[in-house]
Amino acid sequence: MQIETLAIHAGREIDPATGAVTPPIHLSTTFERATDGSFPQGYIYTRSDNPNRSALESCLAQLEGGVSALAFSSGSAATMAIFQALKTGDHVIAPLDAYYGTAQILNTLFGDWDLQVTYVDMTDLTQVEAAVRSNTQLIWIETPSNPLLRITDIRRITTLAHQINALCVCDNTWATPILQHPFELGVDLSLHSTTKYLGGHSDLLGGAIITCREDPFWNRLKEIQRYGGAVPSPFDCWLLLRGIQTLPYRMRSHCDNAEQVADYLASHPRIKAVHYPGLKTHSNFAVAAQQMDRFGGMLSFQVQDGKEAAFDLLAHLQIFRRATSLGGVESLIEHRASIEAPNTKTPDDLLRVSIGLEHPQDLIEDLDQAIRQLP
Ligand SMILES: *Cc1c(COP(=O)(O)O)cnc(C)c1O
Repeated sequence: MQIETLAIHAGREIDPATGAVTPPIHLSTTFERATDGSFPQGYIYTRSDNPNRSALESCLAQLEGGVSALAFSSGSAATMAIFQALKTGDHVIAPLDAYYGTAQILNTLFGDWDLQVTYVDMTDLTQVEAAVRSNTQLIWIETPSNPLLRITDIRRITTLAHQINALCVCDNTWATPILQHPFELGVDLSLHSTTKYLGGHSDLLGGAIITCREDPFWNRLKEIQRYGGAVPSPFDCWLLLRGIQTLPYRMRSHCDNAEQVADYLASHPRIKAVHYPGLKTHSNFAVAAQQMDRFGGMLSFQVQDGKEAAFDLLAHLQIFRRATSLGGVESLIEHRASIEAPNTKTPDDLLRVSIGLEHPQDLIEDLDQAIRQLP
């Protein structure tokens, strides 16, 4: 089956009790035992398993081309679970430009747990090789990265990880299962903040881990999900399964629109730089073209004349919403340096954009009128 068909049918069955085509939401936290104490339908207690969550997990595993998936209450809870499954004294190699919250988890939450971390430029294989230690258990990649849209060569990193018997995890949130296929490139575990494109409507929080094999590490993750309890509600699972149905079509338009906006910005004299992996001028264009089907809906750009001009531009926009997050139907824009730590390396003239599904001409005109009002 093609991905458009999977997105609509995977994990969705006709409700046997009523014939409903759209699945019911199972709010019950507990399920009745048979007289012999067994659970004939397989469900016991909703933290351990719930019909809406099982359906979602089945859909996610199929979409990503994996064998199993675990749904969490947020992308960050999924990230937590992976690091919790490591042992004290283990070493992780992570990207310097990892999602801000991922670095916060490693530094702030695991700092006292003797989980060792080295941050490297993941686009530079020699740096990654130089960071390897005898206790390196995991290499974390995130591509495209935030906020400069740098592209990690997934195949090269997974090859290195497997040479040293480490796991390779790919945060595939920005690319989605539609544009990038981590398991075909050797990744062991793929992670998503489903809050973003998979949900697609800025109205739910969720995360997921998908695996290409069920092994002891996977069983550990399952224990962390069930005993730790950072699980999504049945309603959020239901909303997410609903949102996923249109994911392939949404991603097409996110990509179409972002390409047009990137071209417009790249040709504007008041714009100093545009970071979009689909532009031939992007320093990782070749790798992106090789491992991604298309280049996604995220881009960032730097305004001539610095931070004040960036703020001025924000003030004049009418369609773009000034908000964090990404992947929804509405276009969002944000001054990244403001929401990161004071010592951030993000340039202060940089604006990050999540291109939504409005008409691309309206988005370009909105940017154009805002840029024209710059002093
Ligand atoms: C948003 C995001 C996360 C964290 O997900 P939450 O659902 O906000 O906890 C992790 N990685 C990336 C790339 C993200 O964009």
